[in-house]
Amino acid sequence: MIVIGAGISGIAAARTLHSYGHVVEVIEKGRGVGGRMATRRFAGARFDHGAQFFTSRGSEFTKLIENANRDGAVKKWTNGFSDNPDGYARWCGSSGMTSLVKWMVAEGNINVRTATTVTDLRDMPANAYVLTPPVPQSLAILSFSQMLPNPKTQIELSAISYKPTIAILLRLDQSPERFPEHGGVQFLEHRDLAFISDNQRKGISDEPAFTVHLSNELSDSLWEDSDEEVLAATTALIKDHLNGVAVTDFQIQRWRYAGPEEVRAEPTIVWGANPTIALAGEAFAGPKVEGAFRSGVAAAEMINVALSSS
Ligand SMILES: Cc1cc2nc3c(=O)[nH]c(=O)nc-3n(C[C@H](O)[C@H](O)[C@H](O)COP(=O)(O)OP(=O)(O)OC[C@H]3O[C@@H](n4cnc5c(N)ncnc54)[C@H](O)[C@@H]3O)c2cc1C
Repeated sequence: MIVIGAGISGIAAARTLHSYGHVVEVIEKGRGVGGRMATRRFAGARFDHGAQFFTSRGSEFTKLIENANRDGAVKKWTNGFSDNPDGYARWCGSSGMTSLVKWMVAEGNINVRTATTVTDLRDMPANAYVLTPPVPQSLAILSFSQMLPNPKTQIELSAISYKPTIAILLRLDQSPERFPEHGGVQFLEHRDLAFISDNQRKGISDEPAFTVHLSNELSDSLWEDSDEEVLAATTALIKDHLNGVAVTDFQIQRWRYAGPEEVRAEPTIVWGANPTIALAGEAFAGPKVEGAFRSGVAAAEMINVALSSS
């Protein structure tokens, strides 16, 4: 069986299929695992530049997080970002957000082939495929492979659209004063900003390093601007948080598919026999990291049932 994508949904699917005794290979276009749970090093600092934290509500995900915490792969970041924390745990990877997915791969003994972009599924014959890239990218692979679902499902899937986020990674020459000690500022109502993370206070970087997420609206309007223009707009917006500290280096990451506009209620979509095909990821089952995990598990469960009864 083949799973496309080594984000949390793909690895969750692979672990579940593996637990049922199936032989699974995960194919990932990036150089490492984690997908949008992304961590990067540059200028001597470490940055989470996709998802910043996750919560855990369902019992299966909570059990996974307890085990990852026991093994030192994740840690509780804070119980809330506001002045009156709601007491609900926000978790992060202990060495950046990729830590959780890396641990899931190692602990589950999952076979991942990185740096391999899938364009045609027929090049890698299998009795089942789980596709976990953002839905437009999965549809492109399926179209090229001539394995699209029925026209009604195609139309429904084509309607799933995504919001963009620009992430600005700032290497700072020192740690700004008067920043929340836990290292996170979440903007729930702000027109232009979504999140600022101080990766040093968060405990994943030895050196001072901010990650700034612009709001979906501002990301959209600055999308075509140069990196220097995005940097200038960002430093002006977060001037008070920088508190006079200089930016010594920066990188910009444009997330075209940061998150779906709407999440579909069903946890996965499965069709076909030999091959059986499942679509999974955070566009299904509930948003964000835990929703993506649940979707991956659900896709694997349904494929296992489909193959057992065929
Ligand atoms: C800026 C940003 C901030 C976020 N903040 C949060 C947050 O604070 N909390 C939270 O819970 N969630 C957050 N999220 C959402 C969270 O990151 C996602 O819900 C989750 O990581 C999605 O996992 P996934 O496995 O569904 O998809 P992905 O992680 O996107 O995995 C899909 C994988 O498929 C690979 N792929 C794509 N095409 C191909 C191909 N052709 N061949 C091979 N591989 C391919 C990709 O490289 C990727 O690794 C954020 C996301 C972004 C972008």
